[in-house]
Parts: sequence; C-alpha cells; structure tokens
Amino acid sequence: MESSVIAQDRFETIIGLEVHVQLKTKSKMYCGCSADYANATPNTHVCPVCLGMPGVLPVVNRHAIEYAIMTALALNCTISEYTKFDRKNYPYPDLMKGYQISQYDAPIGTNGFMTIEVDGKKSKVGITRVHMEEDVAKLVHRTNMVESYSLVDVNRSGVPLMEIVGEPDLRSPEEARQYLMKLRSILQYLDVSTANMEEGSFRCDANISIRPTGTKEFMPKVEVKNMNSFRAVFRALEYEAIRQRKATETGERIVQETRGWVEEKGQTVSQRSKEYAHDYRYFPEPDLPPLTLDRQTVDEIKATLPEMPEARKQRFVTEYALPAYDADLLTSSRATADYYEKLVGTKAAKSARDAGNWLLGPASAIMNQHNIDMTEFSRRISVEQFAGLLTLETKAVINTATAKTVLEEMFTSGKNADMIVKEKGLGQISDSQAIEVAIEEAIHANTQAVNDFRAGKETAIKFLVGQVMKATRGRANPQIVNDLLKKKLKGE
Ligand SMILES: [Zn+2]
Repeated sequence: MESSVIAQDRFETIIGLEVHVQLKTKSKMYCGCSADYANATPNTHVCPVCLGMPGVLPVVNRHAIEYAIMTALALNCTISEYTKFDRKNYPYPDLMKGYQISQYDAPIGTNGFMTIEVDGKKSKVGITRVHMEEDVAKLVHRTNMVESYSLVDVNRSGVPLMEIVGEPDLRSPEEARQYLMKLRSILQYLDVSTANMEEGSFRCDANISIRPTGTKEFMPKVEVKNMNSFRAVFRALEYEAIRQRKATETGERIVQETRGWVEEKGQTVSQRSKEYAHDYRYFPEPDLPPLTLDRQTVDEIKATLPEMPEARKQRFVTEYALPAYDADLLTSSRATADYYEKLVGTKAAKSARDAGNWLLGPASAIMNQHNIDMTEFSRRISVEQFAGLLTLETKAVINTATAKTVLEEMFTSGKNADMIVKEKGLGQISDSQAIEVAIEEAIHANTQAVNDFRAGKETAIKFLVGQVMKATRGRANPQIVNDLLKKKLKGE
C-alpha cells in the first residue's frame, strides 16, 4: 500500500462517518409487525402501515425510542426534551410510502462525543446527532434468459433504524476503523443492536476529503458507500485518500459526488454527482405527535445503562490484575467480557490472568479458524464446559498441551472435557514407572543428545524431554520427565 505517501505529504485527510443501525426491537418502528425478518418468507411480516397503504396511521415504537436514548446517552449526547418526526421525501421503489419517516431538525440526541485511541494517542470524536428513522424494503434484482426484473420484499420496511452522524473529526482510515469498532462495541454492550456489518444491521457511509495541512477550510467531499465490513471501510478510505491526493497534485478538480466501493476491484467508482444536498423536502410528519422526553424518564433510562467498555476495561485491570492490552481485548465485546467474568467466577483456572490467556490464546485461535464470534463460541462450549477443562488442567490430570487439544475436540464434538480425556486415554501419566520406561528408550535411541548433556550442554535435555513427551503422546507430566531425566543422566 502507498500509505507512506499519506504519512509525509502536504495534505491531511478529513473523514466523517454516518452509521445506520438496525435496532433489536421485537416489532417495527411504526407498526406491530415483527422486525425479525432475516429468515422470514418474503412479504409475510407486513401490514397496511408498513406497506404504505393510504389512510393508515403510524404509532411510534416506545422501545426503539428508549434504545436511541440509551445510545445517545452512552455517546455523551444532550437528550432533546422535545423531539419530533419528519417526512423525508424521495422517490425510489424500496420506499413504500414514497417518503421515510425520519427526524430532521429535532433529533433525539445532539452534541455528543466518543474517545478513540490509535497508536496510544487518544482523541475525541464529536457526535453530531442520533436520530430515529425506518428501514426500507429490500429489492432483489434478477436476470434470466428473457428479461431482467426486480422483486420487492417488504419485510424489512419499517424496521427501526437509528442513525448516528459523526463530526468530520477523523484524520485517517485507521481512526475511522477504530471509531466504528468502538461504536459497535458500545451498541453491543447496550444490547440495542446486533451491530453486525456483514448481516447489514450496522451500515456505514463515509464522507472523505483532503486539504492542505494547516488550513481550515473544507474541500469538496466524496461520499463513499457500499462497504460491508470494517476492512472494506478501511480499504475504501485508504483508496480515496490516495486518489484525491493524486488528483489534486495533477491539477484535477475533485467533485462532490457519491462513490461506491467495489470490493473485487479494490476501487471506488463514481455513482452520481452530488453537487448539492438532495432536496428531500422535509416537513413535519402530520400523523405523529411530537414527543416530550422529560428529565425523569431520561434519568430512569440513564440508571439502566450497563457498564461501558472503557469502564469495564479499567475494572478488569484492577480487579483481575490483567495487563491493559489483555483487558482491552477481553472487553472489546460484551459477550467476551461476560464469558471471561463467568469463567473467572468458577475459579477453575489457575488465576484470573490464566483464564484470560486461555480465552485470548487457544479459544481465540478456534474462533478465528472457524470465523465465529464469542456468542457462537459460547453456544458450542459453555462456560461450565470450559471450566471443566481448566479444572482437569489445574489438577494436573492433563497437561497444558493436552488441554489445548481437548479444547479443540470439545468444540468439534460438543463433548465434555472429562469424557474426551477418558475416551481417548489422554490422562497425564504421573506414575514414574511408566515414564521411566519411555526415558530409558529415549536415552538409548539418542546417544548424541545424551553425550552433549554430559559434556555440559544443559539444553540438550530439552530434546530428550521432547522425545519422551512424543513417546507418551504428550501425556507425561513434563516436570516429572525433566526431573527423572536429569537424575538418570547424572547417574543419581
Ligand atoms: Zn407492518
């Protein structure tokens, strides 16, 4: 990548992100239809309201408003005492009513901030606003031998959508990535959304421009859409930052436009020029009364907020004596932090730090390998099952290396650790007679290593220990092997 170009050039990058988040409510934003559309048969979660029939009246989903207030509070926003809904008009086939019920000039939350950290440098990123709107229908484009056509699935139409608009305070693609990861983590902690980018419950549009370092005015910005992963956001912004620099340096004019990220090409492509903001002809939604969010209600919601990632990380460092880095990783998702605390609570691990190492080491390796998150991992291996494994290790029934293998086996078979150990005969051999047989064999078969050790090369013993471990299929207690080997070789 040409990131070195960015590091030392005359321009700085200005990025602002808009994030749309589907809320985890049971029903839709303005009607009683189920919002759980993921596996539903097309057009089954619909009613006259979300189908946009004339003469029907929307009703605001109270839980969605509460979730938006929770989010706004967690993002340090001021909660508006008076909030209202507005019609945002634009003609597109995925919009059933021909307009979206959104919020224009009186959003639920304003003027917040979030702190991010990149390379040890903390910075404050402003949150312009948090408001509520509704998702649109899904268009499925099909082509067969004869024709091309589009199918409409209205199940998604009306699902509560929260928009979080950030200030253009981000200065690099990496800061943008950190911002998104932190935001996702906050939403998951609040349990207001699954916040899954790949599944579309967390979507990001980015505004990016450059300007000569040290100046204050903004140059034309480009809106980048179509990014379906954190990696895609990062790559698209890197691409744009470089493209805009090259264009400016060769005297080309950057136009204000919308560009789509094309993953396969690794490029952004112009979609339509956006010289001016769309004329959405916003006007107050006549079918919904404005909402008054009184102090008491907001305070009550504030009292229900869970411990946020930042605070939890600090507590992990002091309560469990974890290094800050480990605490950061363990609190990055609420599911991981919860799993960790439950595991520590069982007292099965040798220490709280050891429990952390198990999750960040072997358990993370399994999650990466199978491309799953902690929520899925915990479905496969419960905290109790994990504790069962650690108990076997702590009590020296199995050694650490065997325990790691057993963990993998637990993941694939769903069996408990003790059953796997019993079935496969993996229990550690601690009785020295069995180990001595293996040691005798190792000494006979490896005269070179034996001579090296006797000649004073202490490290040669490691090789011999390895041979014994191999012969016992990793079941021998390495400490006992080491001690017995030394005794033997020294002729004691
Ligand atoms: Zn409906």
